[in-house]
Amino acid sequence: MPALKIAIDGPAASGKSTVARLVAERLGGFTVNTGDLYRAVSWAALERGLDPVRDAAGVVAMLAELDLAYRIAEPGRLRLHLNGRPVPQEAIRAAAVAAVVSHVARLPEVREWLRQRQRDCCALGTVVMEGRDIGTVILPDAPFKFFITASPMERARRRLAQPGEVAAGATVQSVAAEIAERDRIDSSRPVAPLRPADDAITINTDGLTPDEVADRVVGVIRGGPRP
Ligand code: C5P
Repeated sequence: MPALKIAIDGPAASGKSTVARLVAERLGGFTVNTGDLYRAVSWAALERGLDPVRDAAGVVAMLAELDLAYRIAEPGRLRLHLNGRPVPQEAIRAAAVAAVVSHVARLPEVREWLRQRQRDCCALGTVVMEGRDIGTVILPDAPFKFFITASPMERARRRLAQPGEVAAGATVQSVAAEIAERDRIDSSRPVAPLRPADDAITINTDGLTPDEVADRVVGVIRGGPRP
């Protein structure tokens, strides 16, 4: 099969990362989780003692000190590196990062800085890229675009079930409020807001297993690009 570009967008905790991984495994491609890029920039800012919510200028100035790149870690897997070191997943998935990442991702300079890094991943082969603006901005020419959603409560339950991604003592209500706030900021920003591309297929994953969602996605892809 020739190299394919597959765009998967959707709100926080909609299950798109799991689906992207399953689809990439079945197609023999790479998964690119673009949320990790925004999380890594946010983490770097926090590590430097910056307040990413109030100090946009500080975050933008910091970009010049960052070398952020995907490297092939093992066949089929990419690993994000920051200034030559692998970015620790537990650090970028921490609740402190989740609390500020949408504020960092609102900054046009940050999005611009990350745009080509995301597009460059397509040179690796078949790529399943997931995020918020992949179908609309990063890979508008992708022949396959999906928008993965789930109801707010379902998303909160899924997020709560992922250890290390929520603050200690979090409840389904507090997690639902956190992801709703992140979605609000992501959907209302002027640059590259969260929204389905006009030609995206929307899949509501309530009541579906990740395998069932991946089956649908792969079924569409194997059916070929739509006219
Ligand atoms: O996908 P994940 O929840 O890890 O993304 C974290 C945050 O990164 C999102 O809430 C959003 O603010 C930002 N993001 C983005 N555009 C993308 C991917 C993520 O703005 N393509």
